[in-house]
Amino acid sequence: MNKAVCGLMTVLLSGCVHATWLGATGTGGGSALEPRPADVPMELYEVRASAVFPEKLFEPPLVAAPAPRVRPAPAVVEAEDEDLDGESAAAPAGMAEAEEDGETEGSEDPSAPRYTAELDDEALALKFKQDPSSLGSLSLGLVGQGRLMNAARFPAGTNWTLTTPHAAYATQETIGYIITAVTEVTRQFPGATPLRINGLSSRDGGRLRPHKSHQNGRDVDLGFYYPGETVRVRARERVIDPAKNWALVKALVTLTDVQMILVDKRIQRVLYEFAGEQGEDPAWLDSVFKGPHAIVKHARRHRDHFHVRFFNPRAQELGRRVAPLLGSHVQHGPPRRHKVRRGETLSAIARKYNTSAEHLVNLNRLRSQKVGSGQMLRVPGKSRVVRLPVPPPVVVPPRRLPPEMRRGPEVASLSGVR
Ligand SMILES: [Zn+2]
Repeated sequence: MNKAVCGLMTVLLSGCVHATWLGATGTGGGSALEPRPADVPMELYEVRASAVFPEKLFEPPLVAAPAPRVRPAPAVVEAEDEDLDGESAAAPAGMAEAEEDGETEGSEDPSAPRYTAELDDEALALKFKQDPSSLGSLSLGLVGQGRLMNAARFPAGTNWTLTTPHAAYATQETIGYIITAVTEVTRQFPGATPLRINGLSSRDGGRLRPHKSHQNGRDVDLGFYYPGETVRVRARERVIDPAKNWALVKALVTLTDVQMILVDKRIQRVLYEFAGEQGEDPAWLDSVFKGPHAIVKHARRHRDHFHVRFFNPRAQELGRRVAPLLGSHVQHGPPRRHKVRRGETLSAIARKYNTSAEHLVNLNRLRSQKVGSGQMLRVPGKSRVVRLPVPPPVVVPPRRLPPEMRRGPEVASLSGVR
């Protein structure tokens, strides 16, 4: 196979991972990453990563963030994306149904913006090798076949409830967007019940049951706002709070780089009608809910939550740029065992396995950080990322703003004077 084709293929075959950049005769296990010549596009620039860097340097650092406070589960119960792989009935004819794990294929456009232009390829490779955490969150691969590196943990907050602590990880961008939107709803409705945040990604990304997507830190399931607490009916469209849920959708669309919002069309109808009655611009409203470029799309099994996916200009672009270096990136795998040696502390063991003492306490359900000689502990294992698809370049479209938000500050102040 031609290497140019190989680099552009959606699925990066393992053979390609170890290819050298186009035209080179092989890195021969060089001691440093060779700089990419200016005329070689990034997607053709692949290095023999495992020969260049020792694997130890690639272990993902933990992002130190306080563990989110888990509240007792309220009576609202979401079905989530159960069994999205299942052999469920086909969509009714003519209904536009969004693909939960779909990723738009982009074509290479030299004029496309670069969101990480301040890092040239050499600097990026060096940082990836020496201090990967300094790069911030990296969204790798695709939402349905991806990984997450340098994940951030969703912080605890009074305006939301985290229902899935094991899936409370995402990119910094995704977490920032969600907090922005929820904060805006709370600003408008100070007494709102905390929003249920029902799952983002695992700490290292990858498969997260029962979801098909949610693999690279860009997806989140959000519950609905209800007037009260207790909701058990199936027809949630009858019991949701239209004003707060519409405020959430509007905040996501106008204040964040949202890519899509999946929700059942019966819920959509309630929000669309409410927004229309509120005097939202009809053309803008239609562009959000209708047609091939709608942001809000119908999906089955999304009658009790929003599935929101964000563009991550930085994490996605960095994830794409480091793709050639991933051959030796080590991820946490299934837990292994460690026998505590005499004098060994939990923090020393944590360092050894590139994790935190808190994580080991949780993993082993310890009462404290005290461990004794001979004690068996569960520790994170390691597994290699050998095959990950290389995503198309990310191009974030301009935010879709209603007319009243499109006015520049100058125009706004002028109209204010008159
Ligand atoms: Zn989901």
